[in-house]
Amino acid sequence: MSNPHNPHNRQYHAKNNKAIHATNLTDTGLDWRMEFANTINDRQTLAKMLDLPLDFAEKVGDFALKVPQKFVKKMQKGDMNDPLLLQILPTAAETVQALGFVADPLAEKLANPTKGVIHKYRSRVLIPITGACMVHCRYCFRQHFDYQENLPTTNDWQTIVDYIVKHPEVNEVILSGGDPLSLSDRRLFAILDILESLSQICTIRLHSRVPVVIPSRLHDALLQRLSSSRCQIVLVIHANHPNELDDETVFYFKQAKLAQITLLNQTVLLKNINNNADVLATLSEKLWQAGVLPYYLHVLDKVAGASHFYIDDEQAVAIYWQLLEKCAGYLVPKLVRETPNEAFKTPLNLYAKNS
Ligand SMILES: *Cc1c(COP(=O)(O)O)cnc(C)c1O
Ligand code: SF4
Repeated sequence: MSNPHNPHNRQYHAKNNKAIHATNLTDTGLDWRMEFANTINDRQTLAKMLDLPLDFAEKVGDFALKVPQKFVKKMQKGDMNDPLLLQILPTAAETVQALGFVADPLAEKLANPTKGVIHKYRSRVLIPITGACMVHCRYCFRQHFDYQENLPTTNDWQTIVDYIVKHPEVNEVILSGGDPLSLSDRRLFAILDILESLSQICTIRLHSRVPVVIPSRLHDALLQRLSSSRCQIVLVIHANHPNELDDETVFYFKQAKLAQITLLNQTVLLKNINNNADVLATLSEKLWQAGVLPYYLHVLDKVAGASHFYIDDEQAVAIYWQLLEKCAGYLVPKLVRETPNEAFKTPLNLYAKNS
């Protein structure tokens, strides 16, 4: 119920500002821009930061190395198998052509009624508002997505609005990408203004990995804008391993929580990274301490170039049973897969030998 005229809200702002100044973090929005500008794109710099002889290919296909320094600092120096490093390091394994691993595994083209809108699930539409991400995750299912064809330009927004109005069952808009938080505040706020003007929209959701790789992106001006929205704001972050959450990350998540934003996390089950119930349980506990609830645990989408991360359903289900034993019920995410043409994210069958 965020309303800028609600005195409750003003109280939040006062409290929030105090918290920010007390920890001496600057609040100008400059921090994240600096960090974004210093993003690592070459293996020499990465190798030097990690004390590693990284002789991987600089660029595999079109999906180049890209990682913010803040994320690299969470990696263990000298460890070739660091679970964070494995998520961002281009390797020759990406050139393997594995059976069933394709460019558009979710057939999103089919659910693309008008440019800039993916309407697959009844009550909510997804709008990829930018092709850019602040990190390139090697397992990403959108790595071959045709953004040029699908990014809405200023002129397309009227068509998108018309589409939503013609579909009164839509009450939620999901801003995605790429990563919606790689847009500038100015552009993001303009999009929020449009969506908030549609009375049928109750919830605006952002799916973003930025809070994990450049936490200071959740700076005060952004949180205040989100907090003063007429709509419920949901921020679904994307963390795969407990090492991704350091003190700074936790600080900004708590700020977002103070701003009345609902924080959820989604994780992709990845071989050699988090295919282990202890790791997933620790991730859930750490998220919870930071005010974030686990939402989805996705099995990998079979995207070309990512077969080396694949965990089959039988192993996924076995890990999930162990996770159920380790955590409070509310800390166990839903184990799902994304299936083309299915009306919801499909739960895996926990009782099948081979679901
Ligand atoms: C994942 C996804 C959603 C959101 O689904 P929820 O189950 O509500 O989290 C909506 N649209 C598309 C196209 C999606 O891929
Ligand atoms: S941030 Fe998200 S969309 Fe971007 S590469 Fe990573 S997983 Fe893919």
